[in-house]
Amino acid sequence: MTKNIVVVGSGFAGMWAAISAARAVSLAQQDGEVAITVVSPTPNLTIRPRLYEAELRNMNPDIAHLLMAVGVVHVAGIVETIDSAEKVLQISKTGGGHQSLAYDRLVMAAGSQLFQPDVPGLSEFGFNTDSLASAQALEVHLQGLREKPETVARNTVVIAGGGFTGIEAATEMPIRLRAALGADAMFRVVIVDTSATIGLSMGEQALPYVQEALIEAGIETRTGTRVSSVDAHGVTLSSGERIEADTLVWSAGMRASPIVAQVPGDHDALGRVVGDPFLRAPASDGIFVTGDTVLAATDDQGNFAPMSCQHAMSLGRVAGHNAAAELVGLELHPYSQPKYVTCLDLGEWGALYTEGWNRQVRFTRAESKKIKQEINQIWIYPPAADRDAVFAVANPDFVIVP
Ligand SMILES: Cc1cc2nc3c(=O)[nH]c(=O)nc-3n(C[C@H](O)[C@H](O)[C@H](O)COP(=O)(O)OP(=O)(O)OC[C@H]3O[C@@H](n4cnc5c(N)ncnc54)[C@H](O)[C@@H]3O)c2cc1C
Repeated sequence: MTKNIVVVGSGFAGMWAAISAARAVSLAQQDGEVAITVVSPTPNLTIRPRLYEAELRNMNPDIAHLLMAVGVVHVAGIVETIDSAEKVLQISKTGGGHQSLAYDRLVMAAGSQLFQPDVPGLSEFGFNTDSLASAQALEVHLQGLREKPETVARNTVVIAGGGFTGIEAATEMPIRLRAALGADAMFRVVIVDTSATIGLSMGEQALPYVQEALIEAGIETRTGTRVSSVDAHGVTLSSGERIEADTLVWSAGMRASPIVAQVPGDHDALGRVVGDPFLRAPASDGIFVTGDTVLAATDDQGNFAPMSCQHAMSLGRVAGHNAAAELVGLELHPYSQPKYVTCLDLGEWGALYTEGWNRQVRFTRAESKKIKQEINQIWIYPPAADRDAVFAVANPDFVIVP
């Protein structure tokens, strides 16, 4: 009887998991004996790392042909429940209706979403760059500012959260505000963060470069404080300060998608399942966890994969391969990704490229910006729908690093 692998999610991890599973089945010459299905709202891969940009036209590439080329079926819908005892999913179909789907192996690749705490006014007045829809809403809002009477609040953007995504959103904002308000517009961009020093999370060696970029872009910072409320024209901080601002961009923290809570076993503070070296959810029978849904050791030095596209693409390949390997009798592949790089976009200053977990600075400014553009515009995009070419880069030890 045909066995079923179901992959939940068509992001970086889900797409590569499905392709890698198809490759393993083909390698074992068992095509036709294992069906692979991806469930996600639409057969698209959202390029989340680029959603801080203004131009959002190519941020949601269609992967329907790619999945078809490797023999993977797409079901458009959201997985609502996982019955891990019976190995059955309940799906709410995009466009209406419900469907049950049985699995022999499940690959949970439902990713993550922005954590929005219960701050008064945040859900009503806050913007973010977490999903394509929310990034589009921010861009429409910024473009609409020019229609409003000129006030300090109109020309001020507050970014809540000074981590990687907050810094990228902030350093891009002057470019976006000049496009929206005119080249000579006077504006303020303010990053608010609870930490004592914005940029320190990027490492001590990187810190001076981040600070230089913030200063050059004229970005203000408020540290050791948090946003305590938001309204249509301002943000109040826990320090008591009120910043007049029509725009608040929330960039403070990610959590695993809600469905991940239904995977049995231990979860970390971000909601990720603590995976074993083969990315199995150890307390379940037949469930693999990958991408932003798994807490996985990257090496034997105590480092764990952060929620990142860089890791999701490798985690996806390993989980997909292993899910298929268990069904077709291939050897399982342990996850390992010792090389870690970061490339932080810093707007007009350029970008900052680091290597290693202690983030040694390797390239800065324009040199690094070229790498960032290559990563963002080429490397993380889905490959062309060519089965052999895709299988050639879908093996579980394939890692893309600049
Ligand atoms: C603004 C921003 C900037 C970023 N910058 C970087 C960066 O510079 N470098 C980097 O490496 N990473 C970056 N990241 C992080 C990166 O985008 C994520 O780590 C990555 O997208 C994780 O991939 P994933 O496949 O695990 O999940 P996702 O990309 O989140 O994909 C999840 C998939 O699951 C689907 N899904 C969710 N729930 C369900 C359900 N119940 N049923 C069915 N389908 C479901 C979704 O629709 C989607 O298809 C950034 C993220 C953001 C938001």
